[in-house]
Amino acid sequence: MNLLGNVRFDFNQNANSIDEIRDYVQEKGELSYFVHSYGCQQNVSDSERICGVFELLGLTHTLNMENSDFIIFNTCGVRHTANERVWSHIGALKDLKQSKNVIIGVCGCMVQQKGIAEQLGVRFPFLDLIFGTNLIHQLPEFLKEVLLERKRVIVTQATDEIVEKLPIKRGLNIRCLVPVMYGCDNFCSYCVVPYVRGKERSRVPENVIAEVKKGLQEGFKEILLLGQNVNSYGKGLPSQINFAKLLLAINKLPGEFRVRFLTSHPKDCSSELVAVVAQSKKICKQFHLPVQSGSNKVLKLMNRGYTSEEYLELIAHIREQIPGVTIGSDIIAGFPGETEEDFLETLELIKRVKFDQLFTFIYSPREGTRAAQMPDIVPRAEKKVWFKQLLSIQNEVYDEQNSKRIGEKKVVLPEQVTESSGKFTLWGKCDGGLGVEFAGTEALLGEFVTIVIETATRRNLIGVKI
Ligand code: SAH
Ligand code: SF4
Repeated sequence: MNLLGNVRFDFNQNANSIDEIRDYVQEKGELSYFVHSYGCQQNVSDSERICGVFELLGLTHTLNMENSDFIIFNTCGVRHTANERVWSHIGALKDLKQSKNVIIGVCGCMVQQKGIAEQLGVRFPFLDLIFGTNLIHQLPEFLKEVLLERKRVIVTQATDEIVEKLPIKRGLNIRCLVPVMYGCDNFCSYCVVPYVRGKERSRVPENVIAEVKKGLQEGFKEILLLGQNVNSYGKGLPSQINFAKLLLAINKLPGEFRVRFLTSHPKDCSSELVAVVAQSKKICKQFHLPVQSGSNKVLKLMNRGYTSEEYLELIAHIREQIPGVTIGSDIIAGFPGETEEDFLETLELIKRVKFDQLFTFIYSPREGTRAAQMPDIVPRAEKKVWFKQLLSIQNEVYDEQNSKRIGEKKVVLPEQVTESSGKFTLWGKCDGGLGVEFAGTEALLGEFVTIVIETATRRNLIGVKI
């Protein structure tokens, strides 16, 4: 099937290179692999598929990078700091490469940025494999060249393919990540994602639902649906599907589980979607709606497609329809052309909305984006001062919001356990996505438990099981 010019096909598990590598791995005895993900949940999901391919090839997963035979860094290109970290982590592998015969690969969004694959190849001659996003299905061919033919592989081309039936090795214990769409067509002026992840393209609902069902059969209790803009899911698909209808279909599946989704773009958040979240028992009452700025001038420069008034109306509508809903957001401080007055409008918006979760970033110019060409006169030192103000106001909001939650009951799905002097503390998220800590035993991991909130830190609610 060829949709929107994108090729859709199933990963071929019987391809020749797979058999050849399997034979090679068997001959060698046990070979292990290590994968590290940078950045967003989409990358974590991609890494689960990379691990799936390695498993299919007969390699064994390890968390010990130094002892592994294969190292893959799955990179992020969204902000400069993430990029810098990757460059320094790769540089640090030089000694390891000299001391043992390890194969090192780098993939993901950073690699897909113009000229970066070539630069990586030159600066780090010890890298064996460099490839961008959307090429995981070709990993067996790349590995055949690297392992069997002793070639160095640097792939610079991008694709807009959707490949189904890739093997998956899930990395998280209770949360099953399910991409519903790939790429992005929004071209927010600061953002590199449309350039590195390609055009927006949705998976057909049958494939999304089949993956959800499989996750539930495997015992996952939380499904996290992923896309850069899940609210525009379905555009271009032949059936009359949209994200709200997809959620309804998933909500109808049998079993005790919950569903979250990331990320919603405010301009595409329909009342149909809000109504579906309000009425569907298994869909968490949580929205992540990145606002980015409170200034209409800046929002326009960012090409976000809404005004702060429209955003506030949307939040009011959601809160009216879904009492107790939690709302998260992202903010960029110091966008080119942003004045102190504009920034104060963002602070006003934050005080007004009182977000339950807020992710804050200082603007980072990304080569090839429109914003990188815009005059940017505010010095970074001043942007840092703004950023501090932002954090301190949001901290006040957290304190105020969390103190109101004392005494509330929350249904929590514990996913982590820590032990100190024989006492076990469990941590998980409530329906609204807030972190909750409580005393309990390991046996409760992955079980829904009701907690009464007794106190709170800025980041977590703390309670007792009832
Ligand atoms: N698709 C999601 C966000 C993807 S990137 C959405 O549209 O909401 C995650 C967050 O990183 C963005 O919401 C934004 O706040 C931040 N971000 C993206 N590019 C950035 C840049 N160049 N500088 C600083 N922050 C950036
Ligand atoms: Fe980037 Fe905007 Fe697309 Fe989000 S919606 S991925 S911020 S271009």
